[in-house]
Amino acid sequence: SFSNQKFLIRKSDIPGLHKKFHNFSHKGDYGRVIIIGGSVGKVGAVLMASKSALRTGSGLVHAHIPKGERLVLQIAVPEVMVFDSQEVQDYKQFDAMGIGPGWGMNVDISFYRELLSNYNKPVVIDADGINLISKNPDLLKLIPKESILTPHIKEFERLVGICENQEERLRKAKDLAKKHHIFIVLKGAFTCISCPDGNQYFNSTGNKYMATAGSGDVLTGMITSFLGQGYKPFNAAVCGVFHHGLAGELASVVKRRGLIASDIIDYIPATYTQLD
Ligand code: AMP
Ligand code: MG
Repeated sequence: SFSNQKFLIRKSDIPGLHKKFHNFSHKGDYGRVIIIGGSVGKVGAVLMASKSALRTGSGLVHAHIPKGERLVLQIAVPEVMVFDSQEVQDYKQFDAMGIGPGWGMNVDISFYRELLSNYNKPVVIDADGINLISKNPDLLKLIPKESILTPHIKEFERLVGICENQEERLRKAKDLAKKHHIFIVLKGAFTCISCPDGNQYFNSTGNKYMATAGSGDVLTGMITSFLGQGYKPFNAAVCGVFHHGLAGELASVVKRRGLIASDIIDYIPATYTQLD
């Protein structure tokens, strides 16, 4: 039917989606975002997501990580404001939240439940943020409408069950997006954005060298950044996947199979010279 079309995201689609930076701006104009995640040995995921948010254009980036882990993050990315789990009083102050990078599965589930219930704006959910929902399916209906979930294939199948092939995955992604009124960004080669209206959009950037640890954490930071800059959730997802893939392509020119996720972050600014 007409409500279930498939589209390819092309380079010419992107510049028109960009919000302008203006000459009399201050940092508050470009969004205050927070990345919630991290666990012992996995604070690097929060590091990459928060640094990516800064490189994508966020004015203010906060990170919420477990007590005792803040020093390493603070030193690695001095521009990020780091908070212990208990310190953040009011999450509504943030224009966008990215939930899940490196979070682990030993998360206080009542905290997560309250976070989703009280926020009232779209959020980005990745990695263990998704795995925790698979373990606690009652959380699904608490996800704010228009939120963006960014599973890779394994995370997706934990959520919906094992699939025979990509065709079945795409069908289930569409159903899940429609049912819960959320966006499902099914990652991989030709990442697919499934929308609440049933349409599906395929990304045309990226390459095999991006199949490396932390690559997805970079995407989470980028989509969260666009959301915090005031992009509509669909536009945030589209710009996120396209810029992320392009940054990976640019980094690959010199890094090839030696590419690591931090290289993708380094090339985010260069994507704006092509797309602004
Ligand atoms: P994650 O598995 O969470 O680290 O996410 C991996 C990221 O790298 C996603 O954004 C994928 O779209 C991207 N990626 C992984 N493998 C490929 C590939 N073969 N071609 C294009 N992009 C890829
Ligand atoms: Mg990941």
